[in-house]
Amino acid sequence: MPQNALSVDIADSGKLNLIGLPAAELEEFFCSLEERPFRARQLLAWLYQRHTLDFQQMTDISLRLRKQLELLATLRLPGVVRAQESADGTRKWLIDVGGGQAVETVFIPEPKRTTLCISSQAGCAMDCSFCATGQQGFNRNLSATEILGQVLIARRALGPDVALTNVVFMGMGEPLANYRNVIPVVQLLLDDRAFGLSRRRVTISTAGLVPQILKLSKDCNVALAVSLHAPNDSLRDQLVPINRRHPIAELLDACWDYAECLASRQITFEYAMLRDVNDSIKDARTLARLLRGRPAKVNLIPFNPFPGTRYECSRDEVIEAFVSELWSAGVVATIRRTRGSDIAAACGQLAGQVDDRTRSRLGAKLARVANQ
Ligand code: SAH
Repeated sequence: MPQNALSVDIADSGKLNLIGLPAAELEEFFCSLEERPFRARQLLAWLYQRHTLDFQQMTDISLRLRKQLELLATLRLPGVVRAQESADGTRKWLIDVGGGQAVETVFIPEPKRTTLCISSQAGCAMDCSFCATGQQGFNRNLSATEILGQVLIARRALGPDVALTNVVFMGMGEPLANYRNVIPVVQLLLDDRAFGLSRRRVTISTAGLVPQILKLSKDCNVALAVSLHAPNDSLRDQLVPINRRHPIAELLDACWDYAECLASRQITFEYAMLRDVNDSIKDARTLARLLRGRPAKVNLIPFNPFPGTRYECSRDEVIEAFVSELWSAGVVATIRRTRGSDIAAACGQLAGQVDDRTRSRLGAKLARVANQ
C-alpha cells in the first residue's frame, strides 16, 4: 500500500479507494503488487477518461490482476442524495459525504464552454457575511476522493456527448484551507493520463489565504480567482473576515507574485454587488486604483440572496455604472450572469447539509486576530 495515501478514503471494508489517489501513489500501489508502473496509466484512463468504476470492465488488465484489485481496492463514489436541473440547463447534485454532511456540485452549460463548480469542504470557516455557505459554519475538509468524486459523478451523469471544459473550486468551502487534498485533485484534473484539462481551465477561488497563494505557484499554477468584494480594509474586514489577518495590500502583493508565474495571465477579482454597501462610484474608483496597470480583471457578481440574509443585490443601473467606471479607469471588468438561481445553485447559495462544529471556536479566534 502507498505509505502516504492520507488524502483518499479507506472504505469501511478496509480497501483502498483509488479515486483521487495521486498518479505517483497509484504507481507505488501497483509496484507493491509487483506489477509494472504502466498499470497506473491504464487504470487512470479507465477511471478518468472512460469513467468506469468496475475493475472487471478494465479488459486490458489481466484477469488475475483484476481479481487482486477487487480484493484490495475499491472505486467507490460518494452517494447522490438529490439531482436537480434548472430551467436554464444548470444542474446541481447534493452529495452525501457521510456523518449527516452533504455538499453541492453545480454544472453550468454555456454556448462555448461547460463549467463544473465543485466543493472542497463541508461548510466553510471563512465566515463571509454575504455567503450562504459561510453562514452555515464549518464541519470538515473533504478528502481528495470526495472532491474528485464530484467530478466523476457529474461526468457520469452528463454522459459521453457532453464535454466538460472547465472546473472551478467555487462551490462550498475555501479550497486553499484544504490545500493538502485540493492539490492532488488539481494534479489529476491537469494530468493528460487522467482528465487532461488545461491550466487555464481549472480555477481555484480563494477568500485570500496569502501563505497558500504564495505556495500555490510552486505546486501548480492554475488560474486564480480572489474574492475581493471591497476596495478598502475597513469594509473588507466586515465582509471577508480573513482580511483582518491578511489585509488587502498583503493579498494583492501575493496576487502579483502569483501572476508572474502565470506567464502573462490575469488574476480574476470577484466582487459581489451589495446594494448600498460596496457599490458606489467612489468604491469603483478606489478599486480601480488598486488594480489599474496590473494583470487583473474584475468579475462583478450580482448578489444572490438566500434566506435570512441582511443584504440585497445592487440595482441593475448601479452595476452598469460601476462596471463603466472601472472600464473608464482602465480596468477590465465583466458582470457574471446569474445561473441556476431557481434551484439555488448560484454563487453563494450553496448550502448542502452542514453541522457547524467550529463557529464558537472560530469566533473566538477571529476576535483574537482582530485585537492583535
Ligand atoms: N471560498 C472561496 C470559494 C467561494 S464561492 C472564495 O471565497 O473565493 C465563489 C464566489 O462566490 C466567491 O467570490 C464568493 O465570495 C462569492 N459569493 C459568496 N456568496 C455570494 C452571494 N450570496 N452572492 C454572490 N456571490 C457570492
